[in-house]
Amino acid sequence: MDLFEYQARDLFESYGVPVLAGITADDPEQARAAAEKLGGTVVVKAQVKTGGRGKAGGVKLAHSPDEAYSVAQQILGLDIKGHVVRRVMVAAGARIAQEFYFSILLDRANRSFLSLASVEGGVDIETLAVERPEALARVDIDPLAGIDEAKAGEIAKQAGFPDEILPKVVPVIVRLWDLFKNEDATLVEVNPLVLTESGEIIALDGKITIDENAEFRQSAHAELAEAGDVDPLEAKAKEHDLNYVKLDGSVGIIGNGAGLVMSTLDVVSYAGEKHGGVKPANFLDIGGGASAEVMAAGLDVILHDPQVKSVFVNVFGGITACDAVANGIVGALDKLGDTASKPLVVRLDGNNVEEGRRILAEAGHPLVTVVDTMDDAADKAAELANA
Ligand code: GDP
Ligand code: MN
Repeated sequence: MDLFEYQARDLFESYGVPVLAGITADDPEQARAAAEKLGGTVVVKAQVKTGGRGKAGGVKLAHSPDEAYSVAQQILGLDIKGHVVRRVMVAAGARIAQEFYFSILLDRANRSFLSLASVEGGVDIETLAVERPEALARVDIDPLAGIDEAKAGEIAKQAGFPDEILPKVVPVIVRLWDLFKNEDATLVEVNPLVLTESGEIIALDGKITIDENAEFRQSAHAELAEAGDVDPLEAKAKEHDLNYVKLDGSVGIIGNGAGLVMSTLDVVSYAGEKHGGVKPANFLDIGGGASAEVMAAGLDVILHDPQVKSVFVNVFGGITACDAVANGIVGALDKLGDTASKPLVVRLDGNNVEEGRRILAEAGHPLVTVVDTMDDAADKAAELANA
């Protein structure tokens, strides 16, 4: 689970990592009030779980409460790499002398932890790692020993942090390690970690990823997860325990089994090239059961996505045979009634396929087209989405 920047900021604060004051706002009026409260120059920052907000126009300075209002108006509703901004953080402005980079992450390949640090912060770290790898210090962290003051000093020196700021940087690094360990994080990133003109070290932007496998011993994290459920479709899917991920195309996808659904996404993307470049609208795995209830819940989520123009139901009958799946689809359409208003292309294969197709043919639902192969069904669904 990724945290929003404001959540990372609050965690930093609770671990004694220096941050600037920040207040969240969900509309321009709240942003104005926040700027008034903070006083002076503020920074209005889009709260979306993706990087590069600055470049996308999601981080802007405001010199007055009125300017904070108009800047928030510009940022709220902005689409940053598919994430619509629904909340901003109004933060006190910093006078930056220098921007550094610091992170601790899980290093899966080495079954260990790794710290990355650089005096060339603020920029996109992936770019820095490719273009100037020598500017990025990589220090292995022994999971049992962690980061004490000596280790923190080693990281800071290797990154080339100036000697005179080490007394301030070292304790910050140790506290970031404490946070990483105690919160069961897989990533704690500060970019930029800044040196201000008055010589303070401040975490100006934070990114934290929490290991959801540690949920059982992190009761406080449930609250952090709730704030993340801002997409109404994803929230609805979660309610029904469906594995749903919203994408930005127009062909709704339902399948059983993650592997089948992933290959369905590929086949639809490929077929879409011949039909005006249409793309899948979502990932949705309804699992092995594929009962009428689950099918109805899945269709309900997908049909409420205004971007969806057609739906491709791709099911391989296994333990749940195709006749049960076909009954599930018919039952789901009955249940949904007028909500089911978009064309459905169904491809069934596997256990009891003949009986499944017979059931669908007999039901003769006007919106349903049954197609025998996955490629042809993808083609039909793409054609319908482009109509
Ligand atoms: P990101 O683009 O999503 O990584 O967002 P950041 O929070 O890292 O902001 C991007 C850049 O905006 C930073 O690297 C800074 O250069 C600048 N910035 C952010 N906050 C402030 C601030 O308080 N004062 C000034 N002068 N610049 C800031
Ligand atoms: Mn940043």
